[in-house]
Amino acid sequence: MSKYHILRSINVLLLIILPLLFIINCSDNKNSHNSAAVSHNPTAKNHLALGTASRVTIYDQEPARAEEILKRSFTRIDEIEASMTLYNSGSEIARVNRNAGGQFTSVSEETFLVITQALEIAAQTGGAFDPTVGPLVKAWGIGSDNPMIPGEQEMAMLLDLVDYREVELSREGGDYLVRLKRPDMMLDLGGIAKGYAADAVKEVITGMGSSSALINLGGNILLKGSKPDGTPWRIGIQDPDANRGAYVLILNLTSGTVVTSGTYERFFYDASDQRFHHILDPWDGYPVENGLESVTIVTENSAYADGLSTGVFVLGLERGWELVESLPGVDAVFITEDQMIYITPGITSYTLSNQEFTIRSTLQSP
Ligand code: AMP
Ligand code: MG
Repeated sequence: MSKYHILRSINVLLLIILPLLFIINCSDNKNSHNSAAVSHNPTAKNHLALGTASRVTIYDQEPARAEEILKRSFTRIDEIEASMTLYNSGSEIARVNRNAGGQFTSVSEETFLVITQALEIAAQTGGAFDPTVGPLVKAWGIGSDNPMIPGEQEMAMLLDLVDYREVELSREGGDYLVRLKRPDMMLDLGGIAKGYAADAVKEVITGMGSSSALINLGGNILLKGSKPDGTPWRIGIQDPDANRGAYVLILNLTSGTVVTSGTYERFFYDASDQRFHHILDPWDGYPVENGLESVTIVTENSAYADGLSTGVFVLGLERGWELVESLPGVDAVFITEDQMIYITPGITSYTLSNQEFTIRSTLQSP
């Protein structure tokens, strides 16, 4: 090829490339202009608490305010953990548990409200969600360094201690009082606390006058307002058989909360390689094996969604579906071991992102 030909080729290439660059540039400008006018680049931070990794993303015009919101949000999460965890002997819940069978314990209004809500969900799920599973959770040690399978006799004793109807609540003067009626009973708010913390973070954000945020407490998602660019939030539902961050389904939502309970979240293997996960059947004391891998609840209040996701998982596909369908403003996604995804009819906008799964929007086979 002659020098001339090479130069001509370069010219032709430039003629093609330059306009392309220009187009890309324009669209870039347009995007950045749009986001500046509508509402800004997000500020996001991670935080470890409540046994999980959280990430809060704030869309706010003022980065300094966004930073302040994040700081206050994480302080709130830490406060909630400090009063509600089982794993710190100084927590309010640990005090209630130590007084089991004895005196009432005075707790904060907030802890009182979470216990009240947990008992309501327990009643609604007929005890499938039961915040008095503490003795079982402790005996199994799931999530601890020393998990183990309780023996048969021990299990009978433990099961006898699980009954949400034996939690007494009382208000006297300004005091919020809680009592477990029998010795050795134990509250465990692990099935609801993350959702409650998400609601609390949303209140911080609202209180600070910010209108758009995504709160993600270890997969418990709560949306605050709509996305600044007006497009729906795209919330992924974890593929139960794949690595963290691999999704089976993407939900398009403009608001609300998306909370999942799944067998893959916390588990251990015994010597014969059998897997034991952390969602326990309050009637037989074992991890629930009912063909489900996860249940996702979509509604407005995150504490409610959290408790329900655990309870509906225990109820199983048929009874869980029936309950969800009877609750106004509540929808669910059930994922089964045989790679079916059952979506209740209130969820209308989604994309399947793993073609090995099959979607159904009714329990009847087609
Ligand atoms: P989640 O991840 O929200 O489904 O909550 C699971 C956690 O809730 C477990 O790690 C236990 O601490 C607790 N839990 C397990 N089984 C139950 C149950 N049947 N009812 C209430 N809480 C439970
Ligand atoms: Mg839960």
